[in-house]
Amino acid sequence: MSLTGKIALVTGSTSGIGLGIAERLAQAGAHIVLNGFGDAAEIEKTREKIETDYKVKCIYRNADISQFESVSTMIDSVITELGRLDILVNNAGIQFVSSIEDFPVEQWDKVININLSGVFYCVKAAIPAMKKNNFGRIINIASAHGLVASKQKIAYVAAKHGVVGLTKVVALEAGTQNITCNAICPGWVLTPLVQKQIDAIAAKDNISNEAASAKLLSEKQPNLRFATPEDIGEMVVYLCSDSARNVTGTTLSIDGGWTAQ
Ligand code: NAD
Repeated sequence: MSLTGKIALVTGSTSGIGLGIAERLAQAGAHIVLNGFGDAAEIEKTREKIETDYKVKCIYRNADISQFESVSTMIDSVITELGRLDILVNNAGIQFVSSIEDFPVEQWDKVININLSGVFYCVKAAIPAMKKNNFGRIINIASAHGLVASKQKIAYVAAKHGVVGLTKVVALEAGTQNITCNAICPGWVLTPLVQKQIDAIAAKDNISNEAASAKLLSEKQPNLRFATPEDIGEMVVYLCSDSARNVTGTTLSIDGGWTAQ
């Protein structure tokens, strides 16, 4: 599937799923805007590697997606430098795990601001240029937690259900301008965000990393296998293709059967 010459911004692409998506889009020929936080030298290495491996342009923006000004400046600067924005993947996200009564209000605000408001800010800033070009592909990385709930994750579950709702509104408003908007709902993918939860299980139950991983999977994911960032990247490339032009306003699960239960 070729996306040669398309311009793609992937939020939160300095790590985990976002980086897997950025690499898969680059492999399909898209020029990439990386975004997210991390060690500056590591990010520069990643940026250069994408340019070398896939022969595309790759630039980096450190915008904090929980701040509208920061998002709007990033998207304006991408359009100035690369001419357009064809593909927006809203991937950046964080997790916080606690019971409701102990859940700090600041952590609620932080999760909602990054995981939900950040998606709205990116869509709001990107959609005028997409409408002008009569083309756009917006892919929101929601979660199985956008469809069903788990204990101890009130802010994350609320934010991801919000992302699924937001996805439908964008699809309705932008459909006649050749813009699609969909949400991918992964189950467990082994990334730093999930490793933290495995570490917490290992520490609490005094068990090995392997035993803690198996416990985490067995609680939710019936096929007992992590999905990979590349699996999610493949789905993103499909959603950006011409074949997916009538796929909009929907959710696509990659969850090993999690939400079939
Ligand atoms: P990760 O921690 O590996 O990566 C998160 C990325 O988001 C990093 O690049 C980080 O720098 C960036 N980020 C965090 N706050 C930001 C901000 N304010 N502005 C810009 N960038 C910011 O996490 P991951 O597991 O790769 O998760 C990526 C997305 O996938 C998240 O939205 C997460 O909710 C979702 N998801 C993950 C899983 C999983 O099992 N890993 C499952 C379902 C959904």
